[in-house]
Order: sequence, then structure tokens, then C-alpha cells
Amino acid sequence: MISVTGLVQGVGFRPFVYRLARKYNLKGWVVNRTDGLSIKIEGPSSVIPSFIEDLKNTAPMVSQVEEIKVLKAKIEGLSDFVILASLDNSEETSEISPDIAVCPECLADMKMQSNRINYPFINCTHCGPRFTIIQDFPYDRKKTTMAPFIMCDQCREEYKNIMDRRFHAQPVACNQCGPVYTLHTPDHEFHDFMEILQETSSIIATGGILAVKGTGGFHLMCDAQNEEAVSRLRTSKKREGKPFAVMFRDVESVKQFIALSEEEEKALISWMRPIVILKSLNQPAYSISSGLNTMGVFLPYMPWHYLFFEKSGLPAVVLTSGNLAGEPILIDNKQALALMPGVADGVLTYNRDIYNRTDDSVVRIMGGRECVVRRSRGFVPSAVKIHLDVRGILATEAELSNSFCLGKRNRAYLSQFIGDLKNQETMAFFEETVARFLKIFRIQPSMVAADLHPDYLSTRYARTLGLELIEVQHHHAHVASCMAENRLDEPVIGLAFDGSGYGDDGNTWGSEFLVCDYHGYTRQNHFAYMPMPGGDRAAEEPWRMGLSLLYQAFGDQLYDLDIPLLKAMDLKKARLITEAIAKSINTPLTSGAGRLFDAVSGITGICVNSVFHAEAPMKLESAIRCDIRDFYDFSLVPEISFIPAIRQICRDLQQGVTPDIISSRFHNTIVEASFQAVQKINRDTGIKKIILTGGTFQNKYLFESLERKLRKNNFATFSHEKIPCNDGGLALGQLVVAAVKRS
Ligand code: ZN
Ligand code: ZN
Ligand code: FE
Repeated sequence: MISVTGLVQGVGFRPFVYRLARKYNLKGWVVNRTDGLSIKIEGPSSVIPSFIEDLKNTAPMVSQVEEIKVLKAKIEGLSDFVILASLDNSEETSEISPDIAVCPECLADMKMQSNRINYPFINCTHCGPRFTIIQDFPYDRKKTTMAPFIMCDQCREEYKNIMDRRFHAQPVACNQCGPVYTLHTPDHEFHDFMEILQETSSIIATGGILAVKGTGGFHLMCDAQNEEAVSRLRTSKKREGKPFAVMFRDVESVKQFIALSEEEEKALISWMRPIVILKSLNQPAYSISSGLNTMGVFLPYMPWHYLFFEKSGLPAVVLTSGNLAGEPILIDNKQALALMPGVADGVLTYNRDIYNRTDDSVVRIMGGRECVVRRSRGFVPSAVKIHLDVRGILATEAELSNSFCLGKRNRAYLSQFIGDLKNQETMAFFEETVARFLKIFRIQPSMVAADLHPDYLSTRYARTLGLELIEVQHHHAHVASCMAENRLDEPVIGLAFDGSGYGDDGNTWGSEFLVCDYHGYTRQNHFAYMPMPGGDRAAEEPWRMGLSLLYQAFGDQLYDLDIPLLKAMDLKKARLITEAIAKSINTPLTSGAGRLFDAVSGITGICVNSVFHAEAPMKLESAIRCDIRDFYDFSLVPEISFIPAIRQICRDLQQGVTPDIISSRFHNTIVEASFQAVQKINRDTGIKKIILTGGTFQNKYLFESLERKLRKNNFATFSHEKIPCNDGGLALGQLVVAAVKRS
């Protein structure tokens, strides 16, 4: 008897085992169980080791075998090798595969197989939709949104033929029997697929906008090289400056705009097909990234994407999530139809439901490694295996870019990216997804972990569950998340840099140097507190933090400065703000690294008014020149103060030093100050393991420079790869802290 655990269902593992058994002429059976796979084999003992070797080493690309256990069993004298029907035999479940980009064999079949010529829902056991169509477990067609489609004779033959690549491929379908597209335009409905291809190509080629149903939700699409279309999409989506993702026809087309590193190319063509954030000075249209020197790029992953590019001949299209600002991505055909005519000139739907909504995932290559920044399609719901028993714990995360986490034995299941819970629809999506995860993974929670912030909607939700509640400090959770991902369990120096998190002194934290383990933390240092004029509004309006830092540096003399921020401002309004700071009216204190970056972005005039989340720090990062090595002054005690740097920045500005040089020097200052602060903590504690976590470390320059500097000085640094460093990975940290408190 062989038991296999890991991601082995819905990935063609059983037929793979069957073919292996045939290769070695073994008898027996294989069965899907909710906790993995069981295999019984009978045959000459000489070939069994090779069978097990092959089982480990030649498994399907998407599967992730965690453990293979071999036990001796009674010989029954079986005469054949068979695949048995699934047993729903325990409360334990195995892994569910994420959605997989269409595979090369299927793309070839789309040109050759008579029943699948140009069939846009072609798939096989190696590719196609999974998580997005699964309603329950174990994974079988009747528990997916493919259930209403009755297989035709030909598909059934393939489905039943063990030697066929579509053997037991649950979403198997063809032109005769499977889902179909419909194109809706204001005056017509198209059902013929070739007409649909023609029509969609001409709508996009003539500058139109389409809503297109994707794997995990609707996209809005337009020609990436048509400046007018891109701007119109921006206006109609009410998405002022936030960068759009661009899907290119193929790697060659990407290379016409961007020099790709090996790692970037690998990420682009991986079966997860994430959006990869790439440096690109040359973009198809200016308003794609409006002034940023990066662009989110991805490649086709649905058969329709390939057919569309082939038909239209375009090199690139903007493909952005089809939602209105703040709301979750649309999955419902009827709701999508309402996008026409205001937002879209046509809506392309298909008649299979999306059950689990997913956004496109986003990755960035940092320090030569692929780091997930937004974790959704292609990654969810893969488990994160950790070294602690986290069973029965639900962690609800924070609020702005929520994704929760559920524990089962030593696995953490992070949900897909949910979004900002302050939006009502998003909150409903959150609650619905929690319920679905509990059901699919057969988890009965006994404990809930939440953020220390009393007003976060996720914390309030946690309180309503009537379970034992553990509240975890935000930055402690960030560090714990990174420790868990790296399977560390010892005291570390954790640097958690982000925009904001509730501190245990009631202030807003966000540049924390913690010495901690899972049990607790001590706050060793942080960036000095800055008044946040107007409270939360300061996070949206960088000029507010700019004034705050200027006031700290110069007092009322700031008005004598000749700098871009003051030129861009209504001085009467500015004076009201500095008076409020002087009198401490509505000016809560923050140590948020994000706010310091906002301030410098504002002072230098790089971003005085921001229109989307984190625009000011992103633009500041975009301005960096890598050949600048020097840095400004700062002080390390009692906290890390950058007021000396602010004074030098203003001096530079008045002497005509350009913002790109100032931005570089400022970033170098943060690196140098952080490094020196770490050195001091190391002298006091002897700890050499350093964690770099928090959303601020999405800043590639900052992350790579600090990592390099620490490593050069013999520190061991740890950061995130599979889990976002931003709040999207926070729930994992809450989960492990709660687990340790329980035991
Ligand atoms: Zn395939
Ligand atoms: Zn068929
Ligand atoms: Fe955070």
C-alpha cells in the first residue's frame, strides 16, 4: 500500500499512476481519498523501487507530492490495475489544485482535433480551470460548475480512456458538448464563435472597450497601444492613476518593450501566469502606468486569449479587473452586462459559472527571487506547510487588502486576495469565502485570530464568531508570517515596514524593529513619531505628511523655504494645517514608513496629491537613479529620526538638485539607518537572523539594497516569496501566533 499526500487531486495524478503501473506491469488499484491518494500494487518486488522513484520524480508538473508512505499489504492476487471511484471517507481533505494556464498540447489540439478546432474551453488533466469551478470536495465533475454540461460520446470516450490525456479530466469538453461564448453588443448578440472572434477583434482594433469573462472574473480590455482607448478605460472605470496590467501576445512581443531577466521570463511563462511587475521605460501607451517606470505584464492563459491575439494581430492589450473602484471583480454575467454601454462597448460572456472568484496574481522579482505580491489565481488554494499545528484556527487579517487564513493540521490555507473590507460587497465576498473554505476544507474552527486594531472590520467580524479570540499586534504578525514561511522558530530581529498598523501604545506603527519569536516581541526601535495632520486623510494626501515633516524640521520658518511643495500649495490651507499640528488638533502620531515616503514624495514635488493607494511611495521609487551612492544624515537615538535628512533635502531642493538624486539619497538613507539600527540591536542581543517584511518592502530598490548590505555584513536575512510581504500575508502570522498561545 502506498499513500501519497500533497497536491495530487485534479492534476492527473491517478491516470499518471495507472500509466506507471502499466509500464511496470503491476496489478492493483489507485483511489482518490479526501486526504490524498491510496495506491495498492502487486507485482515483482524488483520493480517496485523504480515504480516509487518514478512516482516521485515524473509526476505531473502542477502536482506537489508532499509525502509518500509505503506499507506492506496482504497479497490478493489481483489481475488488473484499476482506478476506483472516489471515496468521501474522512473529514480530512487533500489539496485542491489552483487554476492552470492552458497547456501546449491543448493549444496544438485546438488546431488538429476535429471536435476541438478553435474550441475556447479546451483543457486536459494538465491544464484548465480548477479552484474557480470547484464547489465541494472531493474533486469530481458533479461537484463543479461543469456539472450541467453532459459529455458527448466523444468526450466520454476520452474521459474513460485511461491512455488519453483527458482521462478523468473533470472539465473535459468540446465543440459539441461544452460551454460556449456569447458576445453581447448594444444591438446584437453573437453566438457563432468565429463571428465572435472577428467581432471582438474589430471592436478592440478600432479603439473599443470590451468586458471579457476570464477564469476567475471579468476583465476590461482595450488595445494597449491606443492612447485614447486606454484613457477612456481609465475614466469609465473611475480608476484615475492606478497602473493597468498589460497582456502581451507572447514573450517576443514583451521583449520589444522590455529587457527581461531570466527570472522574469521564467515567472511570465510559469503555469500560474501571474502579472509580473517589470521595469519598463518604454510602454505601449503613456496612460498605462502614468509616469511610473514599471508595468504589470502577463501572457495569455486562456485558449480565448491565444485565439484573440491570433485573430487580431495586436501585440498587447490592457486587461484590467472588471470591477468598479473598490468592489470585488465581477463574476456574474448579468452584472457584467450592466457595464454596457457606459463602461464597455461589448460584453463577452460564457455559460459556465465562476464559483470561486479570483483576481490575477501579481509577482515581482526581488533579490533574484520571485516574490508574490498579490496571491490569487494560480496560487490559491495551495497550502503553505508550516512546522506548527495550526488546526482549527481562523485568522481574519487586517482590512485594506484582506485575505484570511485557515489552519488544518500543519497547513495554512490562505484565501485568495479579497480586497478592502470597507466596501460592502467586498465584506460580503469575505464572509462568503470564509464559509466556503470551512466547507471545502472540512474545518470546524475553534479559535480565531485577529488584528489588535479594535475598529478593523475583520476584527469586528472575528468577535461575532463566539470563538476564543487572540488579538495579534500587526507588525508582530508580519514578522511571524515571514518566520513561518521560512520555518524559523527562534528569536529574530524583525523589520516590519508598512503604512500603518495599530500599536500597543495606541499610536499607529509602521517602521518597527522588533526582537521577537512567536510568543511575543519587544520593540527595540522605530522611526520617530510623526504627527499625521487630518488622521487617515494624511495617508491619501501626501502634502499633509510633507507639511508635517517640514514643520518638525523648521517650525514656522518652513514658509521661508523655496521648495516645490509650497509652490504647489494654497498657503492659507497650509497654515491651517501647521497650526493644527502646533496645537495637536486631530494629529495622531505615526511611525509608518509609508508616511515618511509620502512626505518626501510630497516635499520634492514628485507626488503632492495622490489618486491611488501608495502612489506617492511608488513614484518616489520610480525616480531613483541607481548610480547615486550617498545618503543624508539621521540619528538613531532615542528613535530613528530623519529630521536632519529632511533639512538636507530642502537644502538640495533650493540648490537645484533634481528630485531623482534626492529620491536616491533618501532611499539610501533609509537603508543606512536601518542597517545601523540592526547592528546596534545585534550588539545588544547577539541575534543574527533578520526578517524583512511589511508592504514597504515591495519597494525593490529598498529591499535589495538593505538585503545586500545586511548579507555583506554576515547577517542572515529572510523574506517572503510565496506569501505577500504586505497585509495579504498577515493572516499567516496571526495564525501561528495564535497556535503558539494555545499550546
Ligand atoms: Zn491541456
Ligand atoms: Zn464533447
Ligand atoms: Fe501591514
